[in-house]
Amino acid sequence: MTDQRQQLQAFLDGRWAWVRDEVRDTLRDPLFAPVFDISIDDHRARVLEQARRIAATRGPRLLFSKDVGGEQEVGAAITAFETQALGDLSLLVKGGVQWGLFGGAIQHLGTTEHHQRYLPDAISLDLLGCFAMTETGHGSDVQSIRTTATYDAETQEIVVHTPDDDARKDYIGNAARDGRLAVVFAQLRTDGGDYGVHAVLVPIRDDDGRPCAGVSIEDCGPKLGLNGVDNGRLAFNQVRVPRTALLDRYGSIAPDGAYTSPIENESRRFFTMLGNLVQGRISVSGAAVSASKVALTIAVKYALARRQFKAPGGNEEVVILDFLQHQRRLMPALASTYALHFAQEELIARAHEVFDGDSVTANADDELARRKLEALAAGIKATTTWHATHTIQTCREACGGAGYIAVNRLPQLKADTDVFTTFEGDNTVLLQLVAKTLLTRYQAEFGELDTLGTMRFVADQVMETVIERTAARNIVQRLIDAVPGRDEDGDLRDRGYQLSLFEWRERHVLDGLARRLRKGITEGGDAFDVFNSAQDHVLTAARAHVDRIVLDAFVAAIDRCDDPELTRLLDLICDLHVLSHLERDRAYFLEHTRLTPARAKAITAAVNTVCGELRPHAELLVDAFGIPDVVLAAPIALGDESARQAAKRDAAPAR
Ligand SMILES: Cc1cc2nc3c(=O)[nH]c(=O)nc-3n(C[C@H](O)[C@H](O)[C@H](O)COP(=O)(O)OP(=O)(O)OC[C@H]3O[C@@H](n4cnc5c(N)ncnc54)[C@H](O)[C@@H]3O)c2cc1C
Repeated sequence: MTDQRQQLQAFLDGRWAWVRDEVRDTLRDPLFAPVFDISIDDHRARVLEQARRIAATRGPRLLFSKDVGGEQEVGAAITAFETQALGDLSLLVKGGVQWGLFGGAIQHLGTTEHHQRYLPDAISLDLLGCFAMTETGHGSDVQSIRTTATYDAETQEIVVHTPDDDARKDYIGNAARDGRLAVVFAQLRTDGGDYGVHAVLVPIRDDDGRPCAGVSIEDCGPKLGLNGVDNGRLAFNQVRVPRTALLDRYGSIAPDGAYTSPIENESRRFFTMLGNLVQGRISVSGAAVSASKVALTIAVKYALARRQFKAPGGNEEVVILDFLQHQRRLMPALASTYALHFAQEELIARAHEVFDGDSVTANADDELARRKLEALAAGIKATTTWHATHTIQTCREACGGAGYIAVNRLPQLKADTDVFTTFEGDNTVLLQLVAKTLLTRYQAEFGELDTLGTMRFVADQVMETVIERTAARNIVQRLIDAVPGRDEDGDLRDRGYQLSLFEWRERHVLDGLARRLRKGITEGGDAFDVFNSAQDHVLTAARAHVDRIVLDAFVAAIDRCDDPELTRLLDLICDLHVLSHLERDRAYFLEHTRLTPARAKAITAAVNTVCGELRPHAELLVDAFGIPDVVLAAPIALGDESARQAAKRDAAPAR
């Protein structure tokens, strides 16, 4: 490894470098090598075997509290998950369901008795579980799910019931084959009252793997990707579980049926419960960044080896990465992957703060911190997963026909990551959550709406605006302050100028949105209609906010780099990230006269220039992702023949 590669990798690996190394080592085992021509049944069996191997490592324990044998290092746990995404994504998702969702729900929504009783076996994989929230009829709108959990005081049992097919639990990971116990989200009824969505533990299979009485299980069948995960449908016919099966951190039932909760307001209680499950969203976001890194590493390595067309007068064909358009396809995607890496790193650090402490759940009770984390996670997850979908497709095309061949991994990456934009929160819905949180800044101006009780579009609780600066506050302000007053004086590659454009757009879009909503309402519009008719504006506001947050994170990362050569390189990458964004969104800046036509054209020229400047560093930039060859596996990425042979050997199924 060259010094520079080592340094850049160490910088990217960051605070939890040790866990990244541990996971890389684990993935080097041939058991984890990608396989391509395998039946769904064999794939599921293989993924379970791999998951058992992962269970024996430190990774899953990092997520859980010490009193159940965990290590309570949430940042390291999410980083481990993210690194594991360099390998087979079915295994990743299977593990995400088991430890992140099933275990995470017990950890965060349950109390000590649940933790002690279930978590040690969940960690070791002796108890396989499901997280059953989504129903056929309701996915994004979880509050409207229709499964019921009705308390029967006479028997001191909770009766879980699926009223009709629309209320079946759908797409549930681990349900079709392996799960024994499910965390089932249902409308809780007791003592004549309806208390909204709560989670109840329901056994779905006995020790021999047969469905429990009253539980029907269907297999969702083949999917576009992730076929190593056994997704299924669950329905419950008056299934009785003991009163203690209720995960009762946020609401409990006394033996006589009396309901109590530390959070009075039903809607607030619901959002608090969901907010505690945010780690899954952050993990998927990290997985999207890792998958983008894998695809880019394959495409860049191929682009450095592949030659097409002789230049006139030349003897050799041209390396395809020397074509400007090829650079334009891969280098901006690479630059934005760096930007999102740093944004994700900051997101993980925030999650670590919120969920670490004397107990895993201690600081999560700080509602403000949790809500800020939720909004940040929603925005970053939407951005990283869309970025992955776009980048992987670009990489596939950039590898020509070779990119379409399964052994080169890109087809599977495409198929497996596609759903990242949907699960753990549909991206469009998540961006609306971001915008709603931002709009709380304007809540005073919407005061009248509150009295109408129709403020569904502004979050329930007042919180400080998340537009506040993150770690980069001082640095960013200093850079912006140093910019000359007039736009036409700004150097396109001056960081302060770039920041000021991103920041101006964020404020301008949000101010305009707030004015538009207020006008609609003061003119007597129905709150839902007013919000709905501004939905495009809402999404633009959220995107502008996330773009600014991501840039801030990049700027903060560059600021903490103390190696001058590395700093220059990171600066160059950041320039390309910003300039390609400005090029993409130049219509907006032109429409709002923040860019003249001449400057807009200059941005395109600047993108070309920076692509050329970064071209000599392309291999270094992907090597620094630290993806071991056996994990990368794609022959087109592995250069010489011996490496190809090694990859073939390693890619052979272990059994
Ligand atoms: C492979 C896979 C695994 C899964 N695993 C699990 C699991 O283990 N446990 C679990 O509980 N769930 C799981 N899910 C379910 C997943 O979380 C849901 O699919 C997701 O939340 C979206 O819900 P939906 O499919 O009902 O889509 P819908 O909510 O019906 O959305 C459909 C479309 O409508 C749009 N839309 C919805 N509301 C709005 C709005 N207000 N404004 C504008 N557009 C809107 C969305 O953007 C989307 O494009 C899984 C899904 C898949 C595909």
